[in-house]
Amino acid sequence: MSKDFDVIVIGSGGAGLSAAISAKENGAHVVILEAEPTIGGSTIRSAGVLVAAGTSVQNSLGVHDSAEDMYQHYMDLNQWKVLPGPVWNFCHESGPMFEWMLDMGLQVPAQHSTNAHMPGLTRGGVENNKRCHVPEGQGKGLVEVLDKRRDELEIPVRLNCRVSDLIIEDNKVQGVKVGDEHLFADAVIVASGGFAQNQDLIRKYFPDALDAGTSFFAVAADGSRGDHLRFAEKHDLKVFGENWGLLLLTARFQRFHHWVSGFPPAARIYVDAQGVRCMDEDSTYAVNQGQWKATGKTVWAIFDEHARKNLPSDVEDWQPDRILEEVCKGVVVSGETLEELADKIGVPQNNLENSVKRWNEMLPHGFDEDFRRHDTLRSKGSDPKLDPIDQGPFYAVQIVPGELVCTHTGLQINSTAQVFNSSGALIGGLYAAGEAAGGVLGERYVGAGNSVTNGLVLGRIAGAQAALSQTEDLSQMLI
Ligand SMILES: Cc1cc2nc3c(=O)[nH]c(=O)nc-3n(C[C@H](O)[C@H](O)[C@H](O)COP(=O)(O)OP(=O)(O)OC[C@H]3O[C@@H](n4cnc5c(N)ncnc54)[C@H](O)[C@@H]3O)c2cc1C
Repeated sequence: MSKDFDVIVIGSGGAGLSAAISAKENGAHVVILEAEPTIGGSTIRSAGVLVAAGTSVQNSLGVHDSAEDMYQHYMDLNQWKVLPGPVWNFCHESGPMFEWMLDMGLQVPAQHSTNAHMPGLTRGGVENNKRCHVPEGQGKGLVEVLDKRRDELEIPVRLNCRVSDLIIEDNKVQGVKVGDEHLFADAVIVASGGFAQNQDLIRKYFPDALDAGTSFFAVAADGSRGDHLRFAEKHDLKVFGENWGLLLLTARFQRFHHWVSGFPPAARIYVDAQGVRCMDEDSTYAVNQGQWKATGKTVWAIFDEHARKNLPSDVEDWQPDRILEEVCKGVVVSGETLEELADKIGVPQNNLENSVKRWNEMLPHGFDEDFRRHDTLRSKGSDPKLDPIDQGPFYAVQIVPGELVCTHTGLQINSTAQVFNSSGALIGGLYAAGEAAGGVLGERYVGAGNSVTNGLVLGRIAGAQAALSQTEDLSQMLI
């Protein structure tokens, strides 16, 4: 059989574009096959934040950082349950990948930023340093930069071209199938994203994502159908990272990502099934999914009439009238007094009153002795002094991990993105990167930028390895 390409890349998100550019830059004849009518996958929907250590932006701002520090923190926070080899390269190649992106035209101003939407350098999640780089134009801007480079390199993209299967013989990849068409290549890079849009695969590989019941919704791209897991099942490939992914805490009635949904009132308190305050209400999504689990999976947000009235009206979910509509539907519970509210949600009156009383003694003065929420608020550039919760009627709504952003169960890779079979042997010429690969993204998300950087770094490595293995110039290959 004659080969059609040196390298076939499945998917045109961050991982796929990065892999294809890198393969071409290393001399390979490449094609990208994309299932959807447009490129970009979840990457184009994202904030485009990149986590990277030792970058020129950090240097300009006097932020001292290193890949070793990033590695240690990342591994420790994930309790060493992720794979050291791939994570090592994720950390060590994050800086070079970032400079590569700047060379392509990505704009990240050398200024401090306080959040994932303000271009510059910020601390995301629970990172132990400022290493989250927010680009101009967010995910769209990032994909445009990659696509411009793809165009310059004349790498073809076939849209509406969903790869239905891999062709693997004698533990070596031979190419892919797109329906009845067979395309042959020396190397294939699976960069087909996650499975957030596939309920059957979620049930099987990420059952915790169903904890939110009917309040579950996924914001990942439509193409996140989990084809990598179908390939794994068919070809006995090893899968890593089961039951892991990024879920965001949302109110039961929320249906949109916070850019559209809006935010709950700042003056709100989270209490557990006993009516006792249980967490920093603003704690980062890097860890709050775990905190929610630790409460026994029942958390109520409590706020008052003053907070409801002061919500903005130009968002979809967290707006004043919507709260009243949800009260009529019984999703939000209201009570004229805290005692009445406590009875309605089934928590001891005394506990709820004590929790709110303690809040009113602390947060309106800008200090939270119990959960140090003032630190969180300050780090976001917000006023740590919050309104008291004292004007009835009072409201309660359950908080659940309802919003699925990305999934972390993928094809197990080695440090250079090559895929293992379930017996622990590497499959010749088969690589995976991004959400389709397992090993880097863990149970804890650590901070904004983990997933896009994972895709770009491992995609870049996979592309280079796939190309260099054609020329057998192994001297340049990473180990
Ligand atoms: C709203 C939102 C905000 C986010 N913000 C951030 C952030 O700021 N920073 C961060 O690090 N992460 C963020 N994430 C997560 C991050 O965007 C993704 O995890 C990451 O971009 C995934 O990249 P990928 O290349 O692996 O997959 P994708 O970008 O999803 O690309 C996969 C592509 O493969 C295609 N495909 C699937 N199956 C096939 C097939 N069989 N054949 C051909 N093509 C196929 C898909 O259609 C898709 O285009 C965010 C996600 C969302 C949804």
